[in-house]
Amino acid sequence: MALFEISEPGEAPSTLPHRRAAGIDLGTTNSLVATVMEEVAATIGDELGQHLLPSVVRYRADGSPLVGLTNQQFIHDDPLNTISSVKRFMGRGVEDIQTLANKFPYEFVHAERGMPRIKTVAGDFSPVEVSAEILKALKVRVEQTLEGPLDGVVITVPAYFDDAQRQATKDAAHLAGLKVLRFLNEPTAAAIAYGLDQGAEGIHAIYDLGGGTFDISILRFSKGVFEVLATAGDSALGGDDIDRAIAEWLLEQADIGADADHKRLQEVMYHARVAKELLTEQDSVELTIRRPDGTDWHGQMNRAEFAEQIKPIIHRTLAPCKRVLRDAGIELRDICEVVMVGGSTRIPLVREMAGKFFHCEPHVDIDPDKVVAIGAAIQADILAGNKPDNDMLLLDVIPLSLGIETMGDLVEKLIPRNTTIPVTRGQKFTTFKDGQTAMAIHVVQGERELVRDNRSLARFELQGIPPMVAGAAHIQVTFQVDADGLLSVSAKEQSTGVETGIVVKPSYGLSDGEVEKMLRDSLTHASDDVNIRRLREYQVEAERAFNVLQVALNENGEQLLSSVERARIDTALDALQSVRQGKDYLAIKKAMTVLDRVSSEFAERRMNASIHDALTGHKVNEFSE
Ligand code: ADP
Ligand code: MG
Repeated sequence: MALFEISEPGEAPSTLPHRRAAGIDLGTTNSLVATVMEEVAATIGDELGQHLLPSVVRYRADGSPLVGLTNQQFIHDDPLNTISSVKRFMGRGVEDIQTLANKFPYEFVHAERGMPRIKTVAGDFSPVEVSAEILKALKVRVEQTLEGPLDGVVITVPAYFDDAQRQATKDAAHLAGLKVLRFLNEPTAAAIAYGLDQGAEGIHAIYDLGGGTFDISILRFSKGVFEVLATAGDSALGGDDIDRAIAEWLLEQADIGADADHKRLQEVMYHARVAKELLTEQDSVELTIRRPDGTDWHGQMNRAEFAEQIKPIIHRTLAPCKRVLRDAGIELRDICEVVMVGGSTRIPLVREMAGKFFHCEPHVDIDPDKVVAIGAAIQADILAGNKPDNDMLLLDVIPLSLGIETMGDLVEKLIPRNTTIPVTRGQKFTTFKDGQTAMAIHVVQGERELVRDNRSLARFELQGIPPMVAGAAHIQVTFQVDADGLLSVSAKEQSTGVETGIVVKPSYGLSDGEVEKMLRDSLTHASDDVNIRRLREYQVEAERAFNVLQVALNENGEQLLSSVERARIDTALDALQSVRQGKDYLAIKKAMTVLDRVSSEFAERRMNASIHDALTGHKVNEFSE
């Protein structure tokens, strides 16, 4: 008989197979894949030794899509079929992206359920499908290096990515045939790459300036876990703006400002980018620009000139830095470490200005392009089970409160914003009407008191509630947000156990600008909202009281009330009826107090009568024991 092997407690069995795991930075401009080999996390290059894969997919009429074109090809080839920056459209609806989409040469078509698709010669593709192509290319790369199929990956996403954006990323991974072990926030990944989780407890700032976006995040490391305290940024600020500023300078120098057509502009942008990247290594660059008349402009740009052009752009990163400190409720001096992330933080001026702002020398030792992928690879290695004694936990927060709609168009928040995930919260609700057998559950996201000022995430119905009087049914609604930030909602009627639920998969997401707007609105409207909430609560309460009394009067008003008593109640009911839809909550409150007073005797008689009925309907021994 074969015996099972049991290893020493605390010691891993020596036969544990090494699992193939990778970390993926699915970026707006560039994507990377990294893996841990022989205890060292490193990014993986293509056959030419290029580690950065431009997040660009070119569709062709015949043949499979090409992923990761060079800039040269991107400019000269086929702009209508060459999809870049697709991350900006992940999890977004047609309405969300309208203004943004105009900035790109490719065309969107409106498809079913409000989901945008991109028109190409090879057919229409959703942002999820385009992202899946990028992921597939990275998968091939890492599987060749590891000589076998991947067991799982960790994919990084911006900390502010909402549910829809994370879900869209998950779908893309699924399409690419990848098993996602966990999503990891980009700033957290960068902190892990620097081993801040091995260091002292404290608060860290992660400054990420990429190709088209700027993100600043505040992480707290304490008791072995990271928590995102706050994030801020600018979704339209990055290396592209620097390229544009330099291109404008070049056009001016070469005297071709007004004559530049789109294609020439693209070309000059390309030269600007090359110059920018060279200037991080050397003090000056030589440039040649072809004018529309065929002549050439030759010139030079040195670091000082470059710095002067881009200073205003870098300066724009400082406002979100101030904001994030305020949001996190901390002071500048609370920050222990600053980590630089993103290709644009290679620029010496960026490091200098960020360092000055935070009063410290930022971490720059790990290549800022690669740092996120490296952190993700370290985490993937642990989650895949290759480091059985490491139980690092990572906490994220939800960006906006989650709640459900209650009577009167009001929102009841189940999970407040900035709650760390994973999290499960439940609350009991009840029916509004007698005999109500179904309940509509409307899941919303946002900070405002009224449903219409928040974002609708999903609707579903709980059916099969046994008919009971209003308020008697107990429906337990549970919200669960998993470690990836995905929400599932369930509703259960307690007496019968009937249950239903959904995984919230909204058809479109919110831009970070919108998230910010919603937060701002909730602050500016806070006092209005409180007043509206109070009014709605009285209106709902009045409607409920009105209905309950109507039913009771129909049932045994004749039998239990004298005509004088009945007239008094009717008058009070009429009075309530005339104010209950109005805007004056005090009037409603007053009418309800009057109604309450004139009907309390009736309520008591009804109660006595029903106890009497109940007792006479049963045999006495049922009540013994
Ligand atoms: P994303 O996170 O948006 O995908 P990356 O972190 O890869 O972007 O950053 C891409 C940006 O970094 C581009 O604008 C690129 O021009 C810029 N970049 C890369 N290397 C350098 C460099 N040496 N100097 C200045 N900018 C650089
Ligand atoms: Mg990035």
